[in-house]
Amino acid sequence: MQTTSTTLIVIGGGPGGYIAAIRAAQLGIATILIVGDQLGGTCLNIGCIPSKALIHAAEEFEKAKHYSHGSSIGIQVSDPSINIAQTVSWKDGIVKRLTTGVGALLKKNGAQVVKGWAQILDGKTVAVMQDGKEVTRITCQHLLIASGSTPVELPFMPFGAGNGKVISSTEALSPTEVPKKLVVVGGGYIGLELGIAYRKLGAEVAVVESLDRILPAYDEDLTKVVKTALKQLGVEVHLGLTVQGMNAAGDAVRVKNAASEESELACDKVLVAVGRRPRTQGFGLESLMLDMDGRAIKIDDQCRTSMRDVWAIGDVAGEPMLAHRAMAQGEMVAEIIAGKRRHFTPASIPAVCFTDPELVVVGKSPQEAQAAGIEHITAMFPFAANGRSMTLESTDGFVRVVARKDNHLILGWQAVGKGVSELSTAFGLSLEMGSTLEDVAGTIHSHPTLGEAVQEAALRALGHALHI
Ligand code: FAD
Ligand code: NAD
Repeated sequence: MQTTSTTLIVIGGGPGGYIAAIRAAQLGIATILIVGDQLGGTCLNIGCIPSKALIHAAEEFEKAKHYSHGSSIGIQVSDPSINIAQTVSWKDGIVKRLTTGVGALLKKNGAQVVKGWAQILDGKTVAVMQDGKEVTRITCQHLLIASGSTPVELPFMPFGAGNGKVISSTEALSPTEVPKKLVVVGGGYIGLELGIAYRKLGAEVAVVESLDRILPAYDEDLTKVVKTALKQLGVEVHLGLTVQGMNAAGDAVRVKNAASEESELACDKVLVAVGRRPRTQGFGLESLMLDMDGRAIKIDDQCRTSMRDVWAIGDVAGEPMLAHRAMAQGEMVAEIIAGKRRHFTPASIPAVCFTDPELVVVGKSPQEAQAAGIEHITAMFPFAANGRSMTLESTDGFVRVVARKDNHLILGWQAVGKGVSELSTAFGLSLEMGSTLEDVAGTIHSHPTLGEAVQEAALRALGHALHI
């Protein structure tokens, strides 16, 4: 058996792992990236990118259908249709282009990619398995775990149950046909992003959420705009229901309300999206006896685990399970190993939900500022008063800013509306740069853009908005 020695082993080729490997190689660290399935991990293959592709296709189809009913904008379209196989193949093409690109970047920077499943033998030794057999053994000085996460399964309704009726986001991203009736269990990120897309593709969609509101991670001022949009789109939302399983005939999901009354929701497919859990089992990680934080690997602000020179980043290290957090952590760990002084202390980790309308949260909400005992001011600017929004036929939603009362330091931004995901960059930058309301208010924002609502929110917080 061949044994190789390297400075850094990275387990997992998702956004956390591949960025760590690229940056480490750039810094001259001998790096081996062990990739069990496809480069790009969940994010590029079965997560962020394919979901946004499907969401875009659904949106375009919905637009065509809207025009076919006659529109005030003057466009007429007759009888639009969608070839879902072609949509999926277009989406797969984007995934292929991106994953091939990641492979090329790793190669160009000098990181070695080893195909196979890593089996941890100890904190410095990893066996690489293919078809259950060890094909190579690698020793290292530093071990970085970036094994990601897997979808949570409901034990009484596992993925694949009901002859494949019960699906996870992975299957939902590669449909062979659009189901007539889709029940979505979980009104969080995946449930709503994909639930809305499927509705636009033509399915009747019912979302079942166990809590009393959708998207519990976002504040209610924002989610109520999405709730209204769901109603207009014809997505049924059932709150406060407990899912019991499929009925005997396998054509409906049984649900129970708070008063223990049972009912059924008819379905052709059931998308279960009730969260993801860190991938910590089945590859020898347990043998390291690392300190855990619930189900996730416990890390400090440098992504160090409780074992010296064993690091963990991304979803395996817990919430928030977002690709940009995994990437930022991966880059940082590579730099620390190269001798740079780094700590993971971002001013904020932006969160974006690609529903229609989209949601963005960066930094503190008014409630969080309140809870932290910070005297603050807040102001919102509605897209109804923004010219660009009118030209885009989408005036629902707003931008809101939260700032310290004493020195006007910006603490947070929230926005809901069409296309606001792109504002997250400006929000993040203003927080990271320590901007004040005056900084944003005094920056010339191009006209006509949605960004003007950002400037106007800052102006309004200062008491002199110009367009409202
Ligand atoms: P992953 O991307 O999960 O990669 C880990 C990789 O390691 C996987 O390929 C896995 O197979 C491999 N692996 C595991 N164990 C081993 C082993 N023993 N040996 C070798 N390889 C191994 N986040 C966003 O920020 N924005 C979004 O819009 C967004 N949309 C999403 C949509 C969906 C449908 C889903 C499911 C997720 C979405 N996410 C989104 C979350 C995002 O995908 C994750 O936060 C991100 O992929 C985490 O990166 P990671 O590197 O930690 O792990
Ligand atoms: P989620 O945590 O966003 O939402 C899960 C929802 O399911 C919650 O609202 C929860 O209350 C509900 N729920 C839990 N158990 C339930 C049950 N038995 N019956 C009914 N409802 C139940 O999880 P997700 O949508 O599966 O997404 C997983 C993770 O992937 C997210 O937390 C996020 O980190 C990441 N993600 C991010 C994006 C993005 O950034 N745009 C998109 C998709 C996924």
